[in-house]
Amino acid sequence: MSNPENNKPAHFIRQKIQADLQVGKNEGQVVTRFPPEPNGYLHIGHAKSICLNFSMAQEFSGTCNLRFDDTNPEKESQEYVEAIKKDVSWLGYQWHGDIRYASNYFDQLHDYAVQLIQEGKAYVDSLSPEEIREYRGTLKAPGKDSPYRNRSIEENLDLFARMRNGEFDEGTQCLRAKIDMASPNINMRDPVIYRIRKVHHHQTGDKWCIYPMYDYTHCLSDAIEGITHSLCTLEFEDHRPLYDWVLDELRTPCHPQQIEFSRLNLNYTVTSKRKLKLLVDDHHVNGWDDPRMPTISGLRRRGYTPASIRNFCEMVGVTKSEGVVDVSMLEFAIRDDLDKNAPRAMCVINPLKVVIENYPEDEALELSLPAHPKEDMGERKVFFTREIYIDRADFEEVPPPKYKRMTLENAVRLRGAYVIKCKEVVKDSAGEIIELRCTYDENTLGKKPEGYKAKGVIHWVSAEHCYPAEIRLYDRLFDHENPDNAGDDTHFLDFINPDSLTVMQNALVEPGLKDAVPGSPYQFEREGYFVLDEKDATADKLVFNRTVTLRDTWAKLQK
Ligand code: ATP
Ligand code: MG
Repeated sequence: MSNPENNKPAHFIRQKIQADLQVGKNEGQVVTRFPPEPNGYLHIGHAKSICLNFSMAQEFSGTCNLRFDDTNPEKESQEYVEAIKKDVSWLGYQWHGDIRYASNYFDQLHDYAVQLIQEGKAYVDSLSPEEIREYRGTLKAPGKDSPYRNRSIEENLDLFARMRNGEFDEGTQCLRAKIDMASPNINMRDPVIYRIRKVHHHQTGDKWCIYPMYDYTHCLSDAIEGITHSLCTLEFEDHRPLYDWVLDELRTPCHPQQIEFSRLNLNYTVTSKRKLKLLVDDHHVNGWDDPRMPTISGLRRRGYTPASIRNFCEMVGVTKSEGVVDVSMLEFAIRDDLDKNAPRAMCVINPLKVVIENYPEDEALELSLPAHPKEDMGERKVFFTREIYIDRADFEEVPPPKYKRMTLENAVRLRGAYVIKCKEVVKDSAGEIIELRCTYDENTLGKKPEGYKAKGVIHWVSAEHCYPAEIRLYDRLFDHENPDNAGDDTHFLDFINPDSLTVMQNALVEPGLKDAVPGSPYQFEREGYFVLDEKDATADKLVFNRTVTLRDTWAKLQK
């Protein structure tokens, strides 16, 4: 089923918003938000939430806020705030107005807490955190009332004021909503709504030593911002009664509707900021933006485009059922984009010298090759010279069956140039091939050879007209499909793929690649899609990252 207005596949959230608009709910407004906690870099799972929130707002002429849910100052930082802003913009979305922070609302949240106390709906508890946990009960057993649950309103107001003034140590007092310790929903068993934390906050500095809890903060921040549809992942389903309780008890003018959808899970990948942070902190990768990371910054550096990520998020859809998406779908999305949009170029990753004996030493033939086989992207220049390089993998003395590259018998075509034949193999004292002596057929430029066949087409660069480059070949970071849940006694770190990065130091690229810029992808013919590394490439050193191979090599391996 599709949405007749724009041919986008229908999903239950789109349908719900349409239904609300039809009955005139929220005065016909759609206001969404993306609410990250700035405790790490965003990952591909967040991209799903970003695309959903921003696209729903766009589609229904609404707005979408970017709000930092910053209630855990110990784990958060300005670095993460900046990285998240950059990632959301890069994905192609513009948030409405200024950036928001839940911490902008700390004064209001505090006043609301006082209101709850005044109305007998919140109390200061002096149990320790361990005791609170014990009293909470379990899924099977109801909780027990705290002995402090029935303090008078005056005493609660006094204690809460003193909490705020810094008179108590962390963990000695907290403010709890007075709901129901016997509720079958543990979230409703008098949840803590304020705790003491004597720490500096990246936005509010040292103003506060009490901080509101996430569940209490989130619904109120949504209400303050006039959010109409508060889209979140399924793990918050059991928190919805609390979301609604807080807003109902405080009679907020706006009562957003929380709607849950399933998280994006990808095989061969971990998507949890906590786990990604561990990979970074323990140096399993080189930072949050390591091109092997499923972070948005890692994918960007790897060469993924915003469009490919948005398309991927659309392909995976929005449902309420938990599932695992095959990472090859993400790879499909980037190949699909780059096949159409990446200009072609030649890069010899593992060079083997070829001397074309019948070509003059001081000549260079300029050749114009199309930048793209189908799209009109102009032309690029390469030079044919006596000395060239081909890839080591494109010559075999003892070829395997059906080998379609160069051998002592097989002539091959150099892409966009002549057909050449190998006459002699030169080896070093260790028996390693160091050079091929070849001849070219001068009647084969743009023409088929007469009386024989070229067995294949290989890529090459002129030894004189090329630039050195470092090539980083990336593969999946984990070699287990489900690194997080591979069985008892395993840890996701056990499944790091030891071959996830191969650095090739001696690659050579065609002349035009000297002007490559990060963010502009290329297809290196026969090798894959590549992009200039945004961090390590310099004016003197080209460094390219392999975004993805040309074909799904993993699918083949698994068959
Ligand atoms: P993590 O477990 O990686 O820390 P989180 O949910 O704690 O994720 P937040 O910063 O709180 O991270 O997330 C911001 C928003 O992104 C939330 O609305 C959350 O539901 C959504 N989100 C996070 N992970 C995913 C995912 N894998 N798929 C879809 N949405 C997600
Ligand atoms: Mg979270």
